[in-house]
Amino acid sequence: MCGIIGVINIDGKPVAGEVYKGLLSLQHRGQDSTGILCFDKVRMNVKKGIGLVSQVFSEQNLSLLKGSMGLGHVRYCTVGSLKSSKVDAAPFAVSIPYSIATTHNSNLINYSELRERYSSLVESECDGEVMLLLLAEELKKADGDELTPEEVFTAVGQVMKQLHGSYSVVALIGRLGLLAFRDPHGIRPLVMGKREDAFAFASESVALDVLGFDLERDVKPGEAVLIGMNGKVHSRVLNAQGPKHCFFEWIYFARPDSIIEGKSVYEVRLELGRKLAKYCKTNGDEVVVPVPDTSRSAAQGLADELGLNSREGLIKNRYVPRTFILPTGQRENATRVNLNPVKSVLKGKTVLLVDDSIVRGTTSKRIIRIVKEHADKVHFLVTCPRHEYPCYYGIDFPVKDELIAAHKTNDEIREDIGADELTYIDIDDMQDAIGLKGELCMACLNGDYPTPISEEDVKKMEAERKKERHFC
Ligand code: AMP
Repeated sequence: MCGIIGVINIDGKPVAGEVYKGLLSLQHRGQDSTGILCFDKVRMNVKKGIGLVSQVFSEQNLSLLKGSMGLGHVRYCTVGSLKSSKVDAAPFAVSIPYSIATTHNSNLINYSELRERYSSLVESECDGEVMLLLLAEELKKADGDELTPEEVFTAVGQVMKQLHGSYSVVALIGRLGLLAFRDPHGIRPLVMGKREDAFAFASESVALDVLGFDLERDVKPGEAVLIGMNGKVHSRVLNAQGPKHCFFEWIYFARPDSIIEGKSVYEVRLELGRKLAKYCKTNGDEVVVPVPDTSRSAAQGLADELGLNSREGLIKNRYVPRTFILPTGQRENATRVNLNPVKSVLKGKTVLLVDDSIVRGTTSKRIIRIVKEHADKVHFLVTCPRHEYPCYYGIDFPVKDELIAAHKTNDEIREDIGADELTYIDIDDMQDAIGLKGELCMACLNGDYPTPISEEDVKKMEAERKKERHFC
């Protein structure tokens, strides 16, 4: 999973500072590496590094990133080495046939095939780089000196035919403008914003909010949008195959203050919580506790519906790095450092503990153990249905063996994680809460993958992932 942003200022003002602020608001989408690239009509000026946005950029290095068109990226590796190498940091750029750069949120099923094709040119292990090379190759086929929007759309249409998987991309093309495109199912999010003097594309609307842009709309599945240097907007749907937006953005990934496909993430999470109420018996003295941070709104919705209090029974240390990709042993310890109980909230209580999802079960087990040191009983309620299948589109769970629900019944999972009761929301309730019935990718719940995936692709992706886990 990654966060991306692209900004073009039509008055010619520098954009590096804006890209930086936008990236700060997308930091939750990736903490491994980050980069900003700006184009000053002659040169592409770039700075990348390992770590958080605030660690990599300073006033001084931002002042060197001159240009009125710029791209930014925060990375959470799901492809390429999980060692967080600087060569894997985006944006990526080429200067032939034009100055072209891209920033991406993607997971390509046919990455290894494309990497093979460009093996003499690639430097990274990141699918964003092969997408850039493919775009450059297709743009090279355009006739004449001046590239036209029509030629750009033809090139992007050809690129889309050759990419299998999920991708949202923002690109800058030399003196032509800022280009954004999204895969034919619109699996990963991408929104467009407008201000009097500028346009922007970003993974989430929160980045537009902080920069004072109005949320214009989502880029459509299979659409390309090109903003010329003069602010003229060109757009074309090139390859639409029916929307299949990743439902997990609303459940877990996106910030609650974002709006995706017209649906407020915060309101969806409140509703997910309300829907969980029907699975609870209450005698009025239970306490609802969210697992911070994602589940706060769902816990509030559940508490409202049941007429109970939602209380902060677990406090998160926000300075501890993420635990999700740590190997199992280390994750257990990290959870303890990460979350500390508020004893007065939990003591002697029946706790309705709300979390966004159970993937491997390691985190839930640890959290329940912490809560049960003080609480009487724990009813664990999850706003995501059972994860039984791997995701090949950018959410970090591509290995079936690792998914607890792929092998165990609800009762076995309940026992395993140490809960007194366990409730998963069901798929219909979850879809009703989001409200885009038939337009969601739920492959990790039902195995219905929107793009073709062969057994061989699966084997390759699993082997790659298992090898990489070795480095974490
Ligand atoms: P576990 O069940 O131990 O694998 O951990 C599940 C928890 O990790 C969930 O409750 C989420 O808060 C978080 N989580 C779920 N999916 C991801 C992901 N792709 N990347 C990072 N964290 C995740």
